[in-house]
Amino acid sequence: MEEEGKTNNKKIVIAIDGFSSTGKSTIAKKLANKLSYIYVDTGAMYRAVTYFALENDFIGDDFFNSERLIENLNEITITFKYSDIKGFAEVYLNDKNIESDIRTLRVSQFVSPVATLSEVRRKLVEQQQLMGKDKGIVMDGRDIGTVVFPDAELKIFMTASAKTRAKRRYKELLERGHNLSYEDVLENVTTRDRIDSTREDSPLVKADDAIEIDNSDLTIEEQLETILNLAAHKISK
Ligand code: C5P
Repeated sequence: MEEEGKTNNKKIVIAIDGFSSTGKSTIAKKLANKLSYIYVDTGAMYRAVTYFALENDFIGDDFFNSERLIENLNEITITFKYSDIKGFAEVYLNDKNIESDIRTLRVSQFVSPVATLSEVRRKLVEQQQLMGKDKGIVMDGRDIGTVVFPDAELKIFMTASAKTRAKRRYKELLERGHNLSYEDVLENVTTRDRIDSTREDSPLVKADDAIEIDNSDLTIEEQLETILNLAAHKISK
């Protein structure tokens, strides 16, 4: 099946949506590498805006000055640059590499409120649509199959139980040297799920034509094989 994808020049858009910490980006990166497609982590873009808001004191523990953030959106330029060492494109805010700065629990705690703002979404969605205009792209996020690329040839919706997801995220953060509790991570995952699914603009919902994959009991290899087969089928059409 894989060979079909390689010999056929047709390029498609692959949209991968789902709840927080379902392992979307791990699969999306591997998929993009296999297909020689571009990979875009749209969560990193919302995290970059949140990092900017935190740095400029537009958001904090008990305040959110969303008007000031909106007024300053033009000061934000988000780019991705491929890192040979990492094997994926890292995110830059105004030319500063912020790839590891945006993966903290602090940014995770503020990102969902920031992502409710329509002005923020409009700016980022426009950039995402430009990045995917020539197809040959794997994009992961919350609204890729519903809003960014409603005509994507392949849409995947990833799920797993909240506890499975929190365990994975907790392990990942510990490995990166962060000092936090499992309970804080679980609380963050469930809070983000709630805000992301209930917001007015572009809520997280499964697109009607998306294929749902519950990966609670699937290995990365199994998920990759399933999605590669689905992609090969679309590419050969
Ligand atoms: O994918 P990740 O967990 O890094 O995303 C961080 C947050 O960014 C999500 O919880 C959500 O609030 C927001 N997001 C979004 N739309 C996307 C991608 C991410 O609202 N397409």
